[in-house]
Amino acid sequence: MIMCNDTILFFFGGFVKRNMKKYDILNVMIQDISPHRLDNGYPHNGQTDPLGVALFFSKDEVQLLQESDGALSLPCVRELALAKEDVSLQYLFLLDETPWYLVCTEKGQTNVFNKEIMSLSVQEIRRKKPFAQHETFALLTAYHLSRWYEENRYCGSCAAKTVPAQDERALDCPSCHRRIYPKIMPAVIVGVTNQDEIILTRYANRPIAYHALVAGFNEIGETLEDTVRREVMEEVGLKVTHIRYYKSQPWAVAGDILSGFFCDVEGDPTIRMDENELKEAVWVKREDVDMQPDHFSLTNEMMMVFREGREPKYTAGKEQT
Ligand SMILES: [Zn+2]
Repeated sequence: MIMCNDTILFFFGGFVKRNMKKYDILNVMIQDISPHRLDNGYPHNGQTDPLGVALFFSKDEVQLLQESDGALSLPCVRELALAKEDVSLQYLFLLDETPWYLVCTEKGQTNVFNKEIMSLSVQEIRRKKPFAQHETFALLTAYHLSRWYEENRYCGSCAAKTVPAQDERALDCPSCHRRIYPKIMPAVIVGVTNQDEIILTRYANRPIAYHALVAGFNEIGETLEDTVRREVMEEVGLKVTHIRYYKSQPWAVAGDILSGFFCDVEGDPTIRMDENELKEAVWVKREDVDMQPDHFSLTNEMMMVFREGREPKYTAGKEQT
């Protein structure tokens, strides 16, 4: 079992100072957990490890164990309080050598462990950081999988009860023989630049005080480059060119795979903001780019590399559009 007090709490938390040495925060997005490793190969060996992590989700919250000193820890299989016939375990992945499982019940039980528990939402886990970064990443990945298993208990075509496929990560419908694969929604994060300036945004109707970049979901029938052009036009009313890929990020809280791109404005750089989606969209000089409260997001890393002048530059003849 992985205990939170075995780890350095809050090591990655807190504000990152603007005068931080170059590159310190690069390659530490939430999925950058090396030397730890998340192995999502499937199927596993079929054995249930009593020391494996056992996660019970109820909507957006997961049950964690609360120790006598108030610290939180990850529950393990042997701490399950339910009779064997009332519970099944769905293998999720290995985090290093430890298997993680999803606890599935049929009878609507609310507390499945024999210890004091505390339920936290995935947003609270990201914000409060009670666990080390690799455990937080694994928890959010488990949440993404839990939502997919929960939302696909019944076949969307014929309404029969689905069963886990034996040979790969999928669910099978025994009635119409449909195979259902995990759902991942592609989206783009866009750094729109004009020489030494970048567009920073704030989203309307969200309690987020810090800046972000232009972003949006890929639509059916679009390339990712099409998505970049459309989202920039919709959100800030600008044409862009020289679209170049930066990095990607699995963003499990929303079930996304994010693809980060930089691009240059083409023509008049005057912003015409979509006021339904944004409450602010401004050109900001490199040295004035402020970072988000934590380094976990691709958005934050892209803002940082621009601040340091390290974003991928356009090379004539290598345009991705
Ligand atoms: Zn079916």
